[in-house]
Amino acid sequence: MFPKSCEYIPAESLEDASELLDRYGDGAVLLAGGQSLVPMMKLRLASPKVIVDLSHIEADEIDVDEDRIRLPALVTHADAVNHESVTEHFDIIADAVPQIADPQVRNMGTVGGSLAQADPAGDWGPLVLATGGTISTLSASSGGRKIPVSEFFGGTLETCLERDEVIESVSLPIPEGDTGGAYLKIKRRQGVYAVVSVGVHLTLEDDVIDSVGVVFNSIGQRYFNPSDVEELLEGERITDELVAEAVDLLDDEIEAIDDIRGSAEFKQNACRSLFERALGIAAERARGNEVENDPMINLTELHA
Ligand SMILES: Cc1cc2nc3c(=O)[nH]c(=O)nc-3n(C[C@H](O)[C@H](O)[C@H](O)COP(=O)(O)OP(=O)(O)OC[C@H]3O[C@@H](n4cnc5c(N)ncnc54)[C@H](O)[C@@H]3O)c2cc1C
Repeated sequence: MFPKSCEYIPAESLEDASELLDRYGDGAVLLAGGQSLVPMMKLRLASPKVIVDLSHIEADEIDVDEDRIRLPALVTHADAVNHESVTEHFDIIADAVPQIADPQVRNMGTVGGSLAQADPAGDWGPLVLATGGTISTLSASSGGRKIPVSEFFGGTLETCLERDEVIESVSLPIPEGDTGGAYLKIKRRQGVYAVVSVGVHLTLEDDVIDSVGVVFNSIGQRYFNPSDVEELLEGERITDELVAEAVDLLDDEIEAIDDIRGSAEFKQNACRSLFERALGIAAERARGNEVENDPMINLTELHA
């Protein structure tokens, strides 16, 4: 299907984009990489009256200081994962981002666009939730704010962004201590969204879990962050008993739903085993051991 016709305005800067959103009101949307918006427009799931285009604005450099990495909103998936400091500090990103869609999508799609899209099958939401990031916005009407990611997402395709609010960047805290992460996803095939994924990002102190983030996508209407499981793990040494207890608690907390990619029952079982595996890999990496991880599990191979 062809999208409905609409007015097109290239923004000169993110500030200009926010002013345009403020001026044109509810019918105006931002276009960044276009990898979610354009398919939605073609399916007529989105029919904006005005498109405010950010795609030709050059992304700022990824900025690294002692305690955080700042990813500008317009950085593409590919540029984020090709940055040495990002992959050095965040195994979880190094695992996850090369599995997003295909090279075309990764070269066009942006970090800010992915967060704003809030697709429950998207990957940047879980990555930023697991690492405890903060999203910075700017707004012509209110000046902008810093939003802890735990307050950012609502339900499917919903965020707390106001009408003229533009994501400017996301800051990820660089953890102190021995850190490791892992991301695992089950897909039907290359180039599509996951049936289910899990990300684990943890820090060890003397082999005791100091902090841990665990986030799943694709199991419900929003990303799933089992905070009781995180609390159970924090302050503990990883033993087989602890892992078994964490997996059982996770099982009690998950409420997976059926969707076009998989049944609730399949997802529930997959979450248990993906989580156990991701936790083990993240812990080994935090201990400084090299672990080979093929983050993508192909559903066709599982059934073979
Ligand atoms: C075939 C296919 C497979 C895919 N598979 C995956 C996958 O496995 N994992 C995954 O994570 N993603 C996947 N995607 C989606 C892809 O990652 C998109 O790039 C991403 O979801 C949106 O980023 P974008 O820059 O393309 O945003 P756009 O499509 O341009 O915009 C998406 C939404 O975000 C808003 N927006 C954009 N930038 C900003 C900003 N700075 N501030 C506020 N709002 C903003 C737009 O107004 C729009 O509502 C897939 C896409 C395709 C086409």
